[in-house]
Amino acid sequence: MKKKILITGAAGFLGSHLCDRFIKEGYHVIAMDNLITGNIKNIEHLFPLENFEFHNHDVTKFVHVAGDLDYILHFASPASPIDYLKIPIQTLKVGSLGTHNLLGLAKQKDARILIASTSEVYGDPLVHPQTEDYYGNVNTIGPRGVYDEAKRFQESITMAYNRFHGLETRIVRIFNTYGPRMRLNDGRVIPAFIGQALRGEDLTVFGDGSQTRSFCFVDDQVEGIYRLLLSDYVEPVNIGNPHEITISDFAQEIIKLTGTDQKVIYKDLPVNDPQQRQPDISLAKEILDWEPKVDRADGMQKTYEYFKSLSKEDLEKSEH
Ligand code: NAD
Ligand code: UDP
Repeated sequence: MKKKILITGAAGFLGSHLCDRFIKEGYHVIAMDNLITGNIKNIEHLFPLENFEFHNHDVTKFVHVAGDLDYILHFASPASPIDYLKIPIQTLKVGSLGTHNLLGLAKQKDARILIASTSEVYGDPLVHPQTEDYYGNVNTIGPRGVYDEAKRFQESITMAYNRFHGLETRIVRIFNTYGPRMRLNDGRVIPAFIGQALRGEDLTVFGDGSQTRSFCFVDDQVEGIYRLLLSDYVEPVNIGNPHEITISDFAQEIIKLTGTDQKVIYKDLPVNDPQQRQPDISLAKEILDWEPKVDRADGMQKTYEYFKSLSKEDLEKSEH
């Protein structure tokens, strides 16, 4: 019998790559999404397959799946700052009510559940690089709080189900991940810069560009998540690429990559934008024997090729 896995947020960037991976591993994949920030095109190629099904459903409403279920990956949630600032209540609901529904389903089916948490639980971190035992520095009432606190609640309720009901749970803290199928207009820095370069616009660096991020290619991220799901480790694990860069240096890398003759312009830094972010991945190395393999130059080349292949119409839709 094929193992059955439910993937929420399946039409999104990470969810669609996870669908591909679990199909490749021989699973029956039940993909669920309400398409609020996702794109059905990301998973359309899987529709003809017998071991793939798609359910258009909002996971903040009661979630029902017929028959047995072995695993659940809960990835539904807006993930980009402009998305969760636009739909703050839905963001809080999918992290809280949605997670509660999926934990209830996991309990009913006796399935193992992995939830997608984030480096944002560390907020604007005072510890660098961030280790899993750092409690974070989040402004609960700031505009980003809707995402950060939803994810912190998600971790708490997941651990409560593990401790109180003995549910098999896993928690991945995902650091900035990029690659093909990111939405060009989702406002995150990589689609924003590449979109600007392709449209012949100046690149918008927020603040003075001294803030840092560490970018992980999607194939590495998926491998880490896959290993964590099949591991015995219950507490949160950072998965990300520790190679850190300032946003202004990154803008220069994009200028080189795309060959654009545009320049960098500076805009206001969003409220509570973290100043630095770099995962400490010692735990993932130790328990999953995992570390990222794709360097930024290769990953960015693949990502650039993807964005170049999009239609002119997709390219024109910009958030800036
Ligand atoms: P995405 O926006 O591309 O995908 C999210 C998907 O969830 C979308 O397809 C959206 O339609 C769906 N969704 C949202 N609310 C829903 C609801 N109520 N019911 C059903 N579906 C719903 O974002 P992504 O980058 O693929 O992120 C996926 C997950 O990974 C999120 O939980 C996010 O918080 C987490 N994460 C991502 C990153 C990253 O760098 N990409 C970093 C940290 C955490
Ligand atoms: N950023 C930027 N210009 C843009 C979009 C983002 O300078 O057009 C900055 C943003 O302020 C942040 C970094 O790039 O410091 C990463 O932003 P992103 O939205 O990709 O992810 P997050 O802030 O959630 O890590």
